[in-house]
Amino acid sequence: MSMTKTISHWIGGAPHEGSPTHRIPVENPATGEVEGELLAASVADVDHAVKVAREAQKAWQKTSLAQRTAVMFRMRELVLANSDELARAIVAEHGKDYNDAVGEIQRGRETLDFACGINAALTGDHSVDVSTGVDIHSIRQPVGVVAGVCPFNFPVMVPMWMHPVAIATGNAFILKPATPTPTASLVVARLYKEAGLPDGVFNVVAGDVEVVTALIEHPGVDAISFVGSTPVARIVQEKGIASGKRVQALGGANNHAIVMPDCDLEFAAQHISAAAFGAAGERCMALPVVVAVGGVGPRLAELVKEHAVNIKVGNGMDEGVQMGPVISRAAKERIVGLIDDAEKRGATVVMDGRGQTVDGHADGFWLGPTILDDVSLDAPAYKQEIFGPALTVVHADSYAEAIEIVNASEFGNGAAIFTNDGGVARAFQLDVEAGMVGINVPIPTPVAYYSFGGWKGSLMGDTHIHGPEGVRFYTRLKAVTSRWPSESGAYAATMSFQREE
Ligand code: NAD
Repeated sequence: MSMTKTISHWIGGAPHEGSPTHRIPVENPATGEVEGELLAASVADVDHAVKVAREAQKAWQKTSLAQRTAVMFRMRELVLANSDELARAIVAEHGKDYNDAVGEIQRGRETLDFACGINAALTGDHSVDVSTGVDIHSIRQPVGVVAGVCPFNFPVMVPMWMHPVAIATGNAFILKPATPTPTASLVVARLYKEAGLPDGVFNVVAGDVEVVTALIEHPGVDAISFVGSTPVARIVQEKGIASGKRVQALGGANNHAIVMPDCDLEFAAQHISAAAFGAAGERCMALPVVVAVGGVGPRLAELVKEHAVNIKVGNGMDEGVQMGPVISRAAKERIVGLIDDAEKRGATVVMDGRGQTVDGHADGFWLGPTILDDVSLDAPAYKQEIFGPALTVVHADSYAEAIEIVNASEFGNGAAIFTNDGGVARAFQLDVEAGMVGINVPIPTPVAYYSFGGWKGSLMGDTHIHGPEGVRFYTRLKAVTSRWPSESGAYAATMSFQREE
């Protein structure tokens, strides 16, 4: 008997099977087995979800801020209380280790914390007597229906960068999860219902390209939040703008850290190991590139290895495991191909994870931590987003040369520097072409009340995600100019009123 579960959608406050166009296998990357089948929504299913969301949004927009934030407070508690169920869903489909999955949920929950205080972010401006007896004030209103299209690597956190802010500001939301990791989104949908969110305000519609295209082209969708790879971010932004929608599209990354010779190399190595190999390198804020300045490369690579050899690779549900498999067999083959190519081009393989195996899981998509030193700047392993547990070390003679290398990258998500020189650190934060900068912090992911986003190929569109930029993206500004003519033209306080019984 097959153990395969069917994974569908959530529309109007209930599970919804609709009329699927096809079924997409969902694998457990640690076992290599297909454990679920995702129903790919049809254009008619998307249309149904948009109609339901539009209808629900009308009333939700008029629901008081006090009631809206009360839902967010309840949702925050429910996410905490159901963290184990969410984490298990993440591990089963993504493969990351359980503790990392719990950490992802905590980071996502921070955006719920921010949304609990959304009233503070929704205050407008007010000026009196801008002309005689004329006042002006501004209000921010929801855009309407927002579609969120998400990547596989953070099945809970990345959607949570979007929906708490979109919903708290009065929008309805349609989430399109990534096809390898859809289940956690359905748990979130159920929790929103338990939190008292009216049916239809949060919906999940699963599928692949056709579903995204249908959402982008649907006249009932007002804004698209996208997070994923750069080529797809470009497509989504171009199509979205052509359809007259607001779009924010966060793309891929190839984050660099400059390691200066004056820094504490032991400290840097410990943090670089965690940043390069955590979540098997499948983070847009992972650190796949180190630019070693002034000859520190070989020593640094050896020090990183001293930490990396202790990383326990295995099934994310097993005790003590710190790194799981990569997402798919195809991803493993792609990453191994990039490592092989870098080696052929002369890189030194300081640590080789290509032969990684895990007892009892012969068919998992395993790849161990890999360190490549003195990688050529022409090597695809350096230039492309590797999105796996491989650290490339490139060499530079000076800070000036290093910053040139960092800024020549097509991406500009995060960037970091390790140094004990405040002057160099200050220059770096001003010179570097990246949206999120770390000084002796290798993964400079901003807290939820700051916004998250990169520069260059890491972000299409104008606004970063969540925090204050999220509020701006999910709301439209309106300026109201008003005058209340009266016989005397005086202020109401100076006028006499006759009360009618
Ligand atoms: P992806 O671009 O392949 O897919 C992202 C989403 O787009 C999925 O929901 C997918 O179904 C959909 N999609 C795929 N092809 C499409 C197409 N041609 N037209 C329309 N929609 C399409 O990304 P992924 O492999 O799921 O995730 C990994 C990528 O996401 C990496 O590049 C990573 O850096 C990036 N990412 C970026 C951030 C960030 O904040 N900048 C955060 C997380 C992940």
